[in-house]
Order: sequence, then structure tokens, then C-alpha cells
Amino acid sequence: MRVGLSKRELLSRALDHSGLNRLLSRSGSWRGLLVLNYHRIGSSVGELFDHALWSATARDFSRQVRWLASRFQLIGPDQIETVLSGEIRQAVMLSFDDGYRDNYTAAFPILRDAGVPATFFISTGFIDSPSVPWWDEICWMIRSTRRTELLLPDEFGGVFQIDPVADPDCTVATRTVLRRYKSVPGHRAGAFVQAVAHAAGTGRCPASAASELWMTWDMIREMRDSGMFIGGHTHSHPVLARLAPEEQDREIELCRSRLDAELGTEAATDAFSYPVGGPTAFDEVTRACLQRHGFRWAFSYYGGWQRPGRHDPHDLPRTAIEQEVDLPQFRSMTVFPQMFA
Ligand SMILES: [Zn+2]
Repeated sequence: MRVGLSKRELLSRALDHSGLNRLLSRSGSWRGLLVLNYHRIGSSVGELFDHALWSATARDFSRQVRWLASRFQLIGPDQIETVLSGEIRQAVMLSFDDGYRDNYTAAFPILRDAGVPATFFISTGFIDSPSVPWWDEICWMIRSTRRTELLLPDEFGGVFQIDPVADPDCTVATRTVLRRYKSVPGHRAGAFVQAVAHAAGTGRCPASAASELWMTWDMIREMRDSGMFIGGHTHSHPVLARLAPEEQDREIELCRSRLDAELGTEAATDAFSYPVGGPTAFDEVTRACLQRHGFRWAFSYYGGWQRPGRHDPHDLPRTAIEQEVDLPQFRSMTVFPQMFA
């Protein structure tokens, strides 16, 4: 239960309750492309993995899709150019990052039934050889441990508290440790996860936990054949800008070649999304690699929407949808992205 609402949340609800959202969604208060990004669909209650990855329950997602389908033109990457040139006045694009299995089991039926396309950005390595990613594994360790503090080496931040009484879901503890992970240099990232496993006394998350975590290539092909779009999200999900140039190239090249091998070059996608996706998650080297391997469009992940006209094809903005976003707030985000996206 969340206590207290921010001014933004209050305002977005007031706009919705006043009927302004419904009214203005007809006339359109903005022009361009609004991209909404999701990770997982379902309920995080009782789950040991990273709760921040659940973007909406199936019920909430279904209501969001119905709202969008009734008011907006929904597009895939094949129509980005038409929107940015101003030919299509206003469009919304739905995207999913990583390739979690619930994209297929929970999101896809809702999208297919509504006749709405979405774009799924896949980290090809997770599909090829399923493993538990670092963010889920760290959360699993913190939620499985019986310890109330994690004693890590100084280079990894020292002591982290876990308070099962004040924070029964470990929301604060998981967030703090994940934030710390992101500040560790790339070559020490593996050692960090190992150190958390040791400090928690849980050991590493069993590999079997990944067996049904990701989609299979057959599922991805079925979605593609039903009108969904598939894009790249690297091979092993590193923060690209933290890698040496040749490693960046390898990640993007491998992602491209696995997509082509599994989906066929004629269906080759030209869209990509950056892991993590903040302004420092990619750089000039990344852009050159994308160019080289045929990714024309690339999406970041730090909010905003794209106005028509001048744009950076390798930094198209996306807005996060999180499970706390209720329907009035969601409607406000789509009607007034100027304020809420
Ligand atoms: Zn990702």
C-alpha cells in the first residue's frame, strides 16, 4: 500500500476525473510519437525476482491497451518514419524489453485480441541459453537470505541492511544493492554478484530458475507471424557504453546475426533498444556499431516523447510504464505527455 500521492499523481487523476482526458484525446494535445515501455506483465506478489520489472498486471495491461486502441494509432517500427515526417499526426508505440516469457503468455494474447501491434526487444543470449540475469539474481538472494545485513567488501559498498519488519518485500534493500551494482566497473560486475551470494549465505540462484523465465524462438516467431515486431536488445544485456569498442561491436553483431538466423533476413528488424537505456548507457561507438549492423532506429529509456521533425534516430525517447501507474494516470500520460511522460 502506498501512502501519499505526489503532486503529479494528484494532477493526473484530477485531469482524468474532470473528463478532460477523454475530451482532449479526441482533438489531440500533442503531435509525434509516444513510446511506452514495459518489461513483464503479471503480478509480482510473492515473487523473489526483481519486482521493478513487473510493469502491469494482465488486467491493468488489458485496460491500458483498450484505452489506447480506442483513441490512438498504434504503430510498429515500420511506421516511425511516417510519424516523424509528420505524415501521421500522432502515434503510440508499445515496446517490451528483454524477452521475458510472460510477454508471450500474458501480453501477446491481449495484444492479438485487440489487434494492437507491439515491439519486443530481445536479448538474444537469454533466449539461446536461459540464465537468471543479474538484477533478478541479486533480488532472489536478498529475498531468500535469513540475514539482516550483507557484509560486502569495501570496493562493493560495505554493509547493506535488510529489515524484514519495516521492509517485508525488501524493496529498499533490493533497490540499494542494485543501484550499487550499476556503479561497479564492468569487469568487477561478476565478482559483485558472487560477493552478494556469499554475504547472503544463499549461494547463487539455481540455473533451473531460468528454465521458463524467457520466451523461446518458436514463441517469438509466432508473435512475429501474428503482427508483432521484434527488435534487438544486445546479446547478453551489458551496459554498452561500459564495454571496450570491440566488445560493443560483438554484442550488437551477435544480436543481429541471431535475430537474422532465427527470424530470417527478410523479416530483419531495424529497431534496437539499449539495455538500461539512460543517457550514459550508449555512446558514439554504440551508434557506429548500430549503423554497421543495420539497426536504423534505437530507443533510449529516460522518459519523454518524440516531436515530429528534428530527431536523433539513435536516441528515440521512451517512457516507462510501472505497476504503480493506475488507469487515470495512464490516460493522463497519453493525453498530456508534455507533463506526464
Ligand atoms: Zn533490458
